[in-house]
Amino acid sequence: MQWQTCLVVPIFLLYILSPTHWFYLYSSTKTQQKRKMAKSAGEENQQKAFGCAATDNSGILSPFNFSRRENGDDDVTLKILYCGVCHSDLHTLRNEWGFTFYPVVPGHEISGVATKVGKNVTKFNIGDRVGVGVLVGSCKTCECCEQDLENYCPRIIFTYNSYNPDGTKIMVRYVLRFPDNLPLDAGAPLLCAGITVYSPMKYYGMTEAGKHLGVAGLGGLGHIAVKIGKAFGLKVTVISSSPQKESEAINRLGADSFLVSNDPAKMKSAIGTMDYIIDTVSAVHPLLPLLSLLKVNGKLVTVGLPNKPLELPVFPLVMGRKLIGGSDVGGMKETQEMLDFCAKHNITADIELIRIEEINTAMERLAKSDVRYRFVIDVANSLSQ
Ligand SMILES: [Zn+2]
Ligand SMILES: [Zn+2]
Repeated sequence: MQWQTCLVVPIFLLYILSPTHWFYLYSSTKTQQKRKMAKSAGEENQQKAFGCAATDNSGILSPFNFSRRENGDDDVTLKILYCGVCHSDLHTLRNEWGFTFYPVVPGHEISGVATKVGKNVTKFNIGDRVGVGVLVGSCKTCECCEQDLENYCPRIIFTYNSYNPDGTKIMVRYVLRFPDNLPLDAGAPLLCAGITVYSPMKYYGMTEAGKHLGVAGLGGLGHIAVKIGKAFGLKVTVISSSPQKESEAINRLGADSFLVSNDPAKMKSAIGTMDYIIDTVSAVHPLLPLLSLLKVNGKLVTVGLPNKPLELPVFPLVMGRKLIGGSDVGGMKETQEMLDFCAKHNITADIELIRIEEINTAMERLAKSDVRYRFVIDVANSLSQ
């Protein structure tokens, strides 16, 4: 979620893309101390902003007013129009990973329109359709940053639940351009869910047309993995514990087949049939049944983040020369490539638009996987009524 706008006062949502400022998280004693110091130095150059924050592990979101510094020479300010609701937001709100700093204003599938650009910014103009994903800063000098892998930078600054340690770097690097035909609402979830499945498919070589991809878990990530897999020309099978999803997986999302993961007979019949599997399941689950589905040399990439370790079955790995890998979103260059790819193939998320006021109910539903397949907050319309 991301509601960086002024709800009552007549100011649009202001989002300054610069690490010289704190983003969605104004928390931790250290951060708050730094922020107070920064405030006294530049209080007159602040832009008012509004979000919704959780203050404890109940995860309940409430209105939250704060401020951001004025747009700098290297910054882009955007009016946020839409923001997708990712399961990571829920994990963070409830401190399920154990490293949440409160108060926290979540949201990292952000789309909108640029309203201000600094004088050094040549890549974007006012009025451009832009997006912000999972990260808003990195060191720009390490091996990862030099290889366009900012998402693995040891000094990464996440869009929320993170803070800026110094504040001297240019940030236009972390703004993404929305292709003309990519809608800002259904396109917003691509900024996390899309790149999370696209990047491992590219890196691990899981894009060879005609090969067989299994998509484990049919949620926010999984349903986009199906669409991207089909765009690469793969045969796609959804592996899910919810048999009621079979019809929509095949008829609506375009999967070729559906495998009920808790049906032993069907799982047995599919042993050794898949070249690749993307495992999007974020709950603790056994890997052995999935590994069994792979052919020799098969690859399983896990992108869900269970809060406890999974058991690693070594025998099938060794005996079948199989590979298990992981992957976390993608770098800025690859994220732009993914947006362009999705625009070219008309890939968007299946979304349910909600108003900001509905967010706590949406979170309850998300916790029960009761969403097809991504909530997206209609920020502008929420605030104008
Ligand atoms: Zn996410
Ligand atoms: Zn770096």
